[in-house]
Amino acid sequence: MRLSNRCYAVTGLGYSAPWCVNAGFVAGDDLTAVVDTGGNTLSAQTIHGYASAARPGNRMLVVNTEKHFDHIGGNGFFRQHGIDVWDHAGVARTSDEFQAEIAEFNQAIPNQARRERGEARAFFHETRLVHPNRRISGDTRLDLGGCAVEILLTPGHTATNLSVWVPEAGVLFSGDCLICEYLPNLDAGAPADWRTWLESLKRIEALAPAIVVPGHGPVARGKEVQVVVDTVRRVLEESISQGHSPTAPRPPASLRVEPRASASGYMWTAAHQQPGMAAPYSARPPAPLRVEPRA
Ligand SMILES: [Zn+2]
Repeated sequence: MRLSNRCYAVTGLGYSAPWCVNAGFVAGDDLTAVVDTGGNTLSAQTIHGYASAARPGNRMLVVNTEKHFDHIGGNGFFRQHGIDVWDHAGVARTSDEFQAEIAEFNQAIPNQARRERGEARAFFHETRLVHPNRRISGDTRLDLGGCAVEILLTPGHTATNLSVWVPEAGVLFSGDCLICEYLPNLDAGAPADWRTWLESLKRIEALAPAIVVPGHGPVARGKEVQVVVDTVRRVLEESISQGHSPTAPRPPASLRVEPRASASGYMWTAAHQQPGMAAPYSARPPAPLRVEPRA
């Protein structure tokens, strides 16, 4: 989608459901800067196609916002076309990690016949692990011709996360420093990293972007931007105080209270009624007892 004269988002590229991932590009007079390459070569072809169509005569470059495969899977396609890929100097992935990602995809296929056929290979068709060939280690400004973009260090989700800021349009491609609708992924770090992430949020707030293309989820505009920042901040602060991420492995079901979308609030699991097991919130009435089937 077109966000401004020069900025475009390519949203909803496939990854492991329910996750989809975003990319985008900024078209200067001479150069088009592509932000992230999707999770595979098929996504890269889509991004490349849109970027070529928006400004056909331009040379291209790519900026990866981070090292996770959903953002770099299309690098090989761009490098094959002689296009430079920029990323943080600290990014390095091994082919073992990439093979493990493919295996994990395959394991997640619900249908046994498709799993046995190894259909994850279809998703990663012609996708190779290719590292960036241009490295940065600090904030970097690129002149695209009539338009500048700034590559900013916004660590936290990983130590090497980058954002791409387009001052003239007030557009920020935040990578996974900000994501919308989904819970942010804190599992690549620990509380010290999450504190760093909070500093990166301050940095983004100081830019006061009009539009944010998050790493995942819908584009945020206007007042939505602050809501997204506040939401990610709240998750980080809660996780720091609890010492674990919201998506960390949860305690056994026998110790859990499941939130329910009902006026009565929380619904108990059965286990607090086991002998010797105190109800976690004694102020709440223990009845009626409802045992919910687990997905
Ligand atoms: Zn991501």
